[in-house]
Amino acid sequence: MVVGEIAEQVDLLVVGGGPGGYVAALRAAELGREVVVVERHGAEGLGGCCLHVGCVPSKALIELAHAVDGLGRMRDAGLEADGARANLATWQVHKQRLVAELAAGVASLFKRAGVRTIRGELRFNKPDRAAVLLPDGNAQFLEFKQAILATGSRPSVLPGLAPDGERILDSTGALALDAVPRSVAVVGAGYIGLELGMALRKLGASVTVVEATDRILPTVDAALTRPVRKALDAHGIELRLGALALGVDGPDLVIREGDAEARVPAERTIVAVGRRPNTDELGLAQLGVAVDEAGLIPVDERRLANERIAAIGDVVAGPALAHKASAEGRVAAEALCGLPVAFEPEAIPAIVFTDPEVASVGLTEAQAREAGLDVAVAQAPLSVLARAATMGARDGFTKLVVDRAADRVVGVHIVGPHASELIAEGALAVEMMASPDDLAGTIHPHPTLSEGLHEAALHLPAVAPA
Ligand SMILES: Cc1cc2nc3c(=O)[nH]c(=O)nc-3n(C[C@H](O)[C@H](O)[C@H](O)COP(=O)(O)OP(=O)(O)OC[C@H]3O[C@@H](n4cnc5c(N)ncnc54)[C@H](O)[C@@H]3O)c2cc1C
Repeated sequence: MVVGEIAEQVDLLVVGGGPGGYVAALRAAELGREVVVVERHGAEGLGGCCLHVGCVPSKALIELAHAVDGLGRMRDAGLEADGARANLATWQVHKQRLVAELAAGVASLFKRAGVRTIRGELRFNKPDRAAVLLPDGNAQFLEFKQAILATGSRPSVLPGLAPDGERILDSTGALALDAVPRSVAVVGAGYIGLELGMALRKLGASVTVVEATDRILPTVDAALTRPVRKALDAHGIELRLGALALGVDGPDLVIREGDAEARVPAERTIVAVGRRPNTDELGLAQLGVAVDEAGLIPVDERRLANERIAAIGDVVAGPALAHKASAEGRVAAEALCGLPVAFEPEAIPAIVFTDPEVASVGLTEAQAREAGLDVAVAQAPLSVLARAATMGARDGFTKLVVDRAADRVVGVHIVGPHASELIAEGALAVEMMASPDDLAGTIHPHPTLSEGLHEAALHLPAVAPA
């Protein structure tokens, strides 16, 4: 290791070891490049936000909550398991173990591929140089040929509600809880807020969700959110829509509804109001790389900000999702290796892991109509599926959006149990430009939830002969 003013020569530098950065690094190494990844949290931090404080821990918490809640759900089916409780302190140990195992998996892939990780905070100080602040306070200087920026994002902070690790938490703090609070106020009814709120409610907290707009999941097609809204009511989660969170006072969160102030009981307040890209402290101006007003880095279809610098994941436009970051990572690595590639997916699936789950890929009916397509839709309710009945699941549906003129599936939307797993078939259909007949003619196994998509395709209104 070179410490001091002399810069170490680096072939391809990747900044950030999240699902964007580590996938890019592995692909570039596969293509013969010498890759160095600088990650603030070192090899233990590989996997980034998604593995350590995002996708993985949140889904682990949801699994626990679902297991506890599922016991009650099966009471009518004969299950006697009263008094089951979750111990969040034990869960924390379990979560740390599984996160560490998965991070070690990425580290071993790096080892095999010859990718080196440097632990430290990177900042660019010249068009081809960066300084890495090491944990011991020293700086290590790197001179690189090309770089991929994959520094991800961090939670947005609301005025008056800056996280303090105690009363006011962001999603990271919420996932570090080692006991279920008596009362929780969740600020923000987006996917992160609702996933956390619902899980904590199932684990025994009383939960109020405070949302500034007049609906939950503002970025999701309204029709898809109705079964979720019903489930929130059934679980006794209080929704305060059109309400602004102002700050905590004593045991409460203070909110404003219209002209009136109100109080919501909140031993803990979880603020989940979006995320900001980590682009402000990177010294991007030194690279000649600009950001837009949202702090995002403009890139071309190869994910290049200029001929030597690529940017991927949460620091560029598009859905802030792990699988999108990874897909961009492959493209960016290949582009910097001179391959003719472009990031042009037909659609990127998006999931809300509430109960029921909401999963979408491609155009919604409204978007397809706005685009002027000759739209046909078909919907299969969960109630027609025998498998759903065995699970006690009734609220949900599969919706297919078709462009009749092109005879193409352009959107698939699923609300119900395991929608997160089922949507991959929809993603394949949209990406492969499948026709509704392709889906209808594919034999789906019985009894499964996958029959929802088959049913929807079978019941699509007949295409008028040309
Ligand atoms: C609670 C929660 C739940 C989520 N659930 C899902 C989900 O279910 N599915 C899904 O697809 N997405 C989910 N996401 C979003 C997902 O985590 C992100 O979209 C994804 O992690 C982005 O990947 P990335 O590689 O761009 O950045 P990140 O994963 O954020 O990784 C960036 C890395 O860069 C490092 N870094 C930053 N700046 C520097 C620097 N200057 N020097 C060195 N290192 C630096 C950071 O330490 C970090 O490890 C969730 C997010 C949250 C918060």
